[in-house]
Amino acid sequence: MIRYFSTRGERGVSLESALLRGLASDGGLYLPNRIPPAKVAWRKQERFADLAVLILRPFLNGMVPERHIAPLLRAALNFPVPLVHLPGWQGVTVVELFHGPTHSFKDFGARTMARLMTQLARHAPLTIVVATSGDTGSAVADGFAGLEGLRVALLFPDGQVSPTQAQQLTLRRPGVRAFAVRGTFDDCQAMVKGVLAAPEELTLSAANSISVGRLLPQMLYYYWAVSRSKAEDAIFSVPCGNLGNLTGGVLATLAGLPVGRFLAAHNANAAFIRYLEKGDAAFGPSVRTLSNAMDVGSPSNFERLRVLVPDLRDHVTGYSVSDEATLRSMRRVHEETGYVADPHTAVALEAVRRHRRATGRAQPALVLATAHPAKFPATVRWALGREPDIPPGLAGLSECPKQVRSLKASRGALIEALRNWQ
Ligand SMILES: *Cc1c(COP(=O)(O)O)cnc(C)c1O
Repeated sequence: MIRYFSTRGERGVSLESALLRGLASDGGLYLPNRIPPAKVAWRKQERFADLAVLILRPFLNGMVPERHIAPLLRAALNFPVPLVHLPGWQGVTVVELFHGPTHSFKDFGARTMARLMTQLARHAPLTIVVATSGDTGSAVADGFAGLEGLRVALLFPDGQVSPTQAQQLTLRRPGVRAFAVRGTFDDCQAMVKGVLAAPEELTLSAANSISVGRLLPQMLYYYWAVSRSKAEDAIFSVPCGNLGNLTGGVLATLAGLPVGRFLAAHNANAAFIRYLEKGDAAFGPSVRTLSNAMDVGSPSNFERLRVLVPDLRDHVTGYSVSDEATLRSMRRVHEETGYVADPHTAVALEAVRRHRRATGRAQPALVLATAHPAKFPATVRWALGREPDIPPGLAGLSECPKQVRSLKASRGALIEALRNWQ
């Protein structure tokens, strides 16, 4: 049975404990103690959920009864994951991860984790605390809403998410409370870590990318993309913030997935790239950009990556893309291929262009598209001079009832709010 150990050394615990605690008691992040090679049949799966069962079964064994694994994963991963070849950009394929209910790739992790947590929730009512820079919160809120014995507190930096994201975050949902924190995303994350490290009498758990329950399902679409595209040795270009998505890909390669290289595509928040280039892990505060879900100054999954792959440089190349270059990338891709990319995906597309230029090779590239462009209508209009098409799930959001409270950026204020849950 796979156990989960802390990046800071704490001994292995069960998946159940790792999910409940979120963060290990020594402050580290959980990782599986071994990564079994994926069953070769992963290449033959026609449905995403079947692939998910095959890959995740060994990680869930021991906690989720065998007969529950397939229904649980089918309910969580019930949306399409299409691959789109960009005409004119030879060998570049966009892997659209934004067809879940909240239209960002966070749905993979959040929906799977929510259903895993229902397997625990029988024992005690649980409050899930989430810091979000935009997409995590709505994915988690949507995944957990209405599940018995579970509540969700969402913390987001006031005024620093897009209007569409703000509407999604503050939708009134059963068992969910949204808090607009007067501070940055890093403040929100520090508050969550603060209450989880010493939860007092509250029963709390995390749902950030720090939860191993969110991390494991983020391996899946890497397998899917390779099996669908038949691209061996492809480059994966990953829009990076907290590095959870990239960590999912690295786990997949450790289980045997053939990948040529990862591109860590960052916006101006590029401390991880400085680490890759100079070996200096000097993380600092975040700066605001157009790809705001990637505005992370101190990526928490860095700690996991360093434990998993001591020499990251052999596997990952980083590119930092400014806001101006992001807008140019959106425009260029649209003009040359007709594809409308959201700002996060545009950063990853630009990383591929730069990597091809730097290496002089046109290696096949799989570009992870992490958000639907309709979540960023103002940026799309700015770049392309027209509005993106709005999918049914995002239309009419403004008319739905909302709920949100303003909160000071302090651990004390959060504890107070959790105690006085109404
Ligand atoms: C969260 C997010 C990212 C960054 O993913 P990490 O796992 O934090 O690196 C990129 N793009 C979008 C749209 C996101 O929501």
